[in-house]
Amino acid sequence: MPMTALMPVYPRCGVRPVRGEGAYLFGEDGTRYLDFAAGIAVNALGHGHPALSKAIAEQAATLMHVSNLYGSPQGEKFAQRLVNATFADTVFFTNSGAEAVECAIKTARRYHFANGHPERTDLITFDTAFHGRTLGTISATNQPKMRDGFEPLLPGFKYAQFDDLDGALALIDGHTAGFLVEPIQGEGGIRPASHEFLTGLRKACDEHGLLLVLDEVQCGYGRTGKMFAHELYGITPDIMAVAKAIGGGFPLGACLATEEAAKGMVAGTHGSTYGGNPLAMAAGEAVLDVIQGEGFLANVEAMGARLRGALEQMIPNYDHLFHSVRGHGLMVGLKLKSDSRRFVAFLRDEHQLLTVSAGDNVVRILPPLNIDESHVTEFVEKLLVAARVYVPAMDE
Ligand SMILES: *Cc1c(COP(=O)(O)O)cnc(C)c1O
Repeated sequence: MPMTALMPVYPRCGVRPVRGEGAYLFGEDGTRYLDFAAGIAVNALGHGHPALSKAIAEQAATLMHVSNLYGSPQGEKFAQRLVNATFADTVFFTNSGAEAVECAIKTARRYHFANGHPERTDLITFDTAFHGRTLGTISATNQPKMRDGFEPLLPGFKYAQFDDLDGALALIDGHTAGFLVEPIQGEGGIRPASHEFLTGLRKACDEHGLLLVLDEVQCGYGRTGKMFAHELYGITPDIMAVAKAIGGGFPLGACLATEEAAKGMVAGTHGSTYGGNPLAMAAGEAVLDVIQGEGFLANVEAMGARLRGALEQMIPNYDHLFHSVRGHGLMVGLKLKSDSRRFVAFLRDEHQLLTVSAGDNVVRILPPLNIDESHVTEFVEKLLVAARVYVPAMDE
């Protein structure tokens, strides 16, 4: 293969979107797709949402970027809204999820450093975790497909099995800074942590003076029907990474922390040229306005229940193909008995239905959060037609 102008790190499919409208994408050739991938859980308001587009256009014409050398009325306002809505006392804005996780890792290390324990550097992370693609965040997962050929990686991570509380607790020693975990693993295959696991990690942090760092880049920001997934577990983290839906398609991430956990992050310790610029803040505020609007999260819960109910009903009739459904709200995983990538490609190419494959042979169903019943019905009907004619590969 000759080198391409776009570095060929993605196995891109034949869909080439040029326009979007609500829950639909339109390809170069005019083909219309029902988009239940939503830019991998990013387009929470769908495509071309008028309030979001307007806020971005107006802010672009008013003031786009000034750097973090100056005071930020836009950043202060949006950060205060996030603080008011969460466990956090303070926010650092980034341009992506990986950068939000990087900030979370740095904040955790600095906390122990500031407390006179510079030796407490290690974060315990989990099998099949995904935290991003920087050197720091690939070091925070033990998945070989992300790490091979990029060594030496960052020291200071230990790996336990996801959802294995005893295994995680057994790794705690004098160098432990805390745990870094997705309450619901996304790339790993829509695996919700058990209640016992997440509350157990919280308890261990409280007992040992460790930090609970949550990666809610995918599961946070309304996706589960709660503003953040940890609310489903009745716990709060000390530090949390957020991104994807927070900008609704505008590149934006955030690292949230309590005052105590962020005590080491003093002037000069961290930074970002673009992070939290006025344009990003306008996008963030516009998205939050909608998500905090009356009935928005209730709609996520209702549409999630409807979708899940329909899928559960359909499984017994196609039990050669489907294994089970899992997830919360509109973060739904449909586990297959065969290769999920192949089925995702079939849905896309033959039925104009966009989903995302994930680990453990799971089809990730991540629609915009503002869909209505008609979108769920259309999705389920098309999925049924597809399931009826789909033939899993011979060697499976
Ligand atoms: C997508 C994702 C990231 C990385 O976000 P980027 O914006 O791609 O850097 C990190 N953690 C989780 C859980 C994610 O789903």
